[in-house]
Order: sequence, then C-alpha cells, then structure tokens
Amino acid sequence: MEHEMAEETIFSKIIRKEIPADILYQDDLVTAFRDINPRAPSHILIIPNKLLPTVNDVEAEDEAMMGRLFTVARKLAEKEGIAEDGYRLIVNCNPHGGQEVYHLHMHLLGGRPLGPMLI
Ligand code: IMP
Repeated sequence: MEHEMAEETIFSKIIRKEIPADILYQDDLVTAFRDINPRAPSHILIIPNKLLPTVNDVEAEDEAMMGRLFTVARKLAEKEGIAEDGYRLIVNCNPHGGQEVYHLHMHLLGGRPLGPMLI
C-alpha cells in the first residue's frame, strides 16, 4: 500500500451510515450512493467498503472487490434505465486525475448524452 496510514474520508462515514446519504446498494464489498453534486441525471458513486485511497493502492487481493464495482455499476445502470442509451464510468486518481476524495470510487454517469470525453 502506497499510503502507510490511509486516512478516512467522509465516504467511510457514509458506508457506516453515520452520516446521511442516498444509498442505493450495499453488500459485503461495496456501497453505492448518489453523488451530492450530480453532473448528470444519474450520477452514482460506487466505492469499496475497504479504504483504498486511490487506484495506486489496489493489490491483487482486491480483484474481487474491484470487479464488484463493475457488476454493481451494470446493475444500477439497468435500474436507472440508462443501460441501453449508455453511460460513462470514471475513476479519478490523484491530483492530475482530478481526484478530490481519497477513498477510491467509481463514478456512474448517464441520463443524457455526455459527449466526447474532454481531457
Ligand atoms: P472525485 O473528484 O473523483 O474525487 O469525486 C468526488 C465526488 O464525491 C464528487 O463528485 C463529489 O460531488 C462527491 N461527494 C463529495 N462528498 C460527498 C458526499 O458527502 N455525498 C455524496 N457525494 C459526495
């Protein structure tokens, strides 16, 4: 792990239901909730329950958990009714990637044409 002492963020409190969030799904590995500042009609964050600050901290032992992010994203996209038209999955890493919250998370965005990815 790159960060010796990973510091908890607000997302750990959301996982433990210590602060309010619009939680759509939770299991033993991941939690999904609506982004507080939605950039699209559907904007959901899917996060591992285990605190990994960034993608740089992912190890082989985390593969089941990382795979779960995708299967939950797929199911939530179907539930939101955006699967057929399409959606975007984004994981930002560190400052150059635009990461603001240092608890690894996948953005699920859809419900409108998102256009080409701007970099
Ligand atoms: P990042 O830029 O990839 O780190 O995205 C962090 C996301 O977390 C942003 O889209 C924020 O709007 C979202 N966010 C921050 N705090 C909260 C919260 O308390 N509840 C839900 N979403 C949050």
